[in-house]
Order: sequence, then C-alpha cells, then structure tokens
Amino acid sequence: MSPLLLRAHNASDWTGPTGNNTWLLRGRTPVLVDAGVGEARHIRDIAAALAGTMLAVVLVTHGHPDHVGGLPAIRERWPSVRVRPASEPFVDGGSIDAGDGALRAIHTPGHAPDHWCFFDEESRDLFCGDLARAGGTIVIPARRGGDLREYLASLERILGLAPRRLLPGHGPIVEDPSGLLREYLEHRAARERQVVAALEAGRTTPDQIVDEVYADLAPALRGAAAESVLAHLLKLKDEGSVVEAGGLWALGEPKA
Ligand SMILES: [Zn+2]
Repeated sequence: MSPLLLRAHNASDWTGPTGNNTWLLRGRTPVLVDAGVGEARHIRDIAAALAGTMLAVVLVTHGHPDHVGGLPAIRERWPSVRVRPASEPFVDGGSIDAGDGALRAIHTPGHAPDHWCFFDEESRDLFCGDLARAGGTIVIPARRGGDLREYLASLERILGLAPRRLLPGHGPIVEDPSGLLREYLEHRAARERQVVAALEAGRTTPDQIVDEVYADLAPALRGAAAESVLAHLLKLKDEGSVVEAGGLWALGEPKA
C-alpha cells in the first residue's frame, strides 16, 4: 500500500514552510494519519483522494494542535469516522487495520507523552509524527510534557526497528532513517556535554546556559533553546548528576 501525502495547508514558522503532513492510506480500511488543522482545502483534498469512499479511521500521532485541530472538520465531513486513540486507545505493539494491510502502534514518548508512531511491517515505512524531521531537530517542550530521557529511548527503539523510510508530520520523507536518528542521538549527546561544561563553568540558570551554549542565537529562537536546555537539566537531574534549588542548577549528587 502506498500512502498518499496530503498537506494540511498550514505553513508557518512553527509548522515549517510546507506545513503539516497528513498521510492517507486507501483500500479496504481508509485511514488518515494525523488530522491537520481543518483547512477547507485539506478536507477537499482528502475527499477527492477517497473518491466517494468513506474515511474509516484517523490515527493521531499526538495531541498537539497542528495534528488534532482538524478533527472537528473531519468528523463533520465523515460523521462515522473513528478517531484513535480518542475512541479506542492504542496498545503498544498492537496491530491496526489500515488500507489493505496493517500498521503496528509504537509508543514513542518524548516530544509529547502521548506520542505514537505507526509501522508498516510490509513496506517498513514508519509514520513518525514529530519524532524526527529532515533538516532540523525536534523540540522537547520540557514544560509541556516533553521528556528528553524518554525521547532518547524512543529514538533508540525506532533505530532498532530499522525502518526503510520515515513519513514525518513535517517536511520531506526521510530516506535514511538510521543516519538521521544516529545524528539526533549524537547531537543530543554533544549538547549534554555542553550543558555540563556550562555548569562546570559556574552557570546556574537555563538562561545563562543558553548564552554559553548557543552562539549568535536569533532572539526568536531563545525560548526554544531555553526549553531544550531545561530538558537536558531535567534529564541530568533524573539521572542524579545535577541538583536544583530555587531555580538554580549545579552539578552534584542530591543530598541524602
Ligand atoms: Zn508536536
């Protein structure tokens, strides 16, 4: 089965120059992966591609607004559609009828606690949501459910599946998943070393660490950089190598 890319028509600084991707699997069980934001053009494109058949299921990779905002418009157009996991939770590793075949649901928390990927074992395509995107890194929003430790574990788990391609929520298809995922793991490891070095140099707040770690940062990216630093600090704290008191961070063992 060959998934059809249907763009959500919501290009922005945040969603990327081509906006969100949604993926339609036609066949016995027409399935859409991710819902977009309800743009009329998107709904028309889905309907045209279905050519009169009913959309059976929407699979949601995670609950961020650019992936679920279109659900009301989709329900209005196809009232019998089942939205998962809203109507029926996923089972990690469980099989889902999709198109003329099946997808395996893979729980991949990190970017969001409710993040799922969907793996087509026959073609080895992985619908990866916001786990990865070509030509950029993924934000781990530490204050809104992001968790770097979980994210790194999810990257390792997907590496272990050896997918042939990643069909992401944003940007082009990733033709070399192992290369990109390994790059991600190396990038995060390098960033962690920089955060530890900044702590060693006596920096104590995420803001100070951002100044130390990110040279020539555009002001618009400062918030995301601070989130990323905080994600690293929380990971190091979970691992017991960093302590925090009153918003100030330092290397050291937690007091017994
Ligand atoms: Zn997201």
